[in-house]
Amino acid sequence: MAQLIDGKAVSAKVKEQVRLETQALIEKHGITPGLAVVIVGNDPASRVYVNNKKKACEAVGFKSFEYALPEETTQEELLELVETLNADPNVNGILVQLPVPKQIDDKAIINAISPAKDVDAFHPENVGRIMIGDYSFLPCTPAGAMELIDSTGIEVAGKRCVVIGRSNIVGKPMAMLLLHRSGTVTICHSRTQDLASVTREADILVAAVGRANFVTADMVKEGAVVIDVGINRLENGKLCGDVDFAAVEPKACAITPVPGGVGPMTIAMLMRNTLTAAKAQHGITD
Ligand code: NAD
Repeated sequence: MAQLIDGKAVSAKVKEQVRLETQALIEKHGITPGLAVVIVGNDPASRVYVNNKKKACEAVGFKSFEYALPEETTQEELLELVETLNADPNVNGILVQLPVPKQIDDKAIINAISPAKDVDAFHPENVGRIMIGDYSFLPCTPAGAMELIDSTGIEVAGKRCVVIGRSNIVGKPMAMLLLHRSGTVTICHSRTQDLASVTREADILVAAVGRANFVTADMVKEGAVVIDVGINRLENGKLCGDVDFAAVEPKACAITPVPGGVGPMTIAMLMRNTLTAAKAQHGITD
């Protein structure tokens, strides 16, 4: 039986650490980290994410600022808000919940966020810094996935790592993080030929595809660590990952469930990034 990697427990630990550090920051320096979350439109899934982020801020002792803008908001209006938040000393982190409505170019918004407050690590400057291994923030989902790999005690260095998915927010940065840890990394995507023959090589397999039960047992090496980033909603309303958990679990040495795996880690890492941003903006190194 595989070790079940408990994202709820690991994320609770990360958040508790952030809460304690925040308490110390308030007591020693009188600084309370602040996160601004901007949501445009009425997407119900985005609404749930934003509410969860707000709750997490409260739990760790941050100030949270929520800006809920109407669906018809123009790009100029959103850019104006981002500029205001960039200049606001009470705001240390800015997150614009994606996707934004179609009249807004998300790249223009990401580019406008001050790299120092870009706690999602989507700004090209932060992406570039991750590439060269000189970064302050890591994108929350891959950073959370890495934290879960670490929680197993398994060393990445020298391992064959395969990431399925090459998105800018999950697949590519995930591959880069594994490479920074000296894994031998392969990125697979929709044009990869004979995918199973590649994934079967993986000691560490990360799935970020967005297709329910896509990774089947025949695609997994005996004893692999399997990290399932996917969040898919089935017709019956239940959430499921990209990995066929029931079939893959007996072959894996450690595996994340969905829900309760990578999902809870994303918000925990956002809290950590916001704390890092607040400290950096005040020149605090302890
Ligand atoms: P995306 O749609 O941007 O990327 C999906 C990737 O899968 C693409 O790079 C594509 O090449 C690859 N792909 C598609 N079909 C394939 C195939 N047949 N074979 C191999 N590769 C294939 O998605 P994303 O934003 O990277 O998200 C991936 C999944 O992770 C989604 O289910 C999403 O909901 C989930 N997600 C979870 C979190 C979290 O907090 N846990 C955060 C972000 C995304």
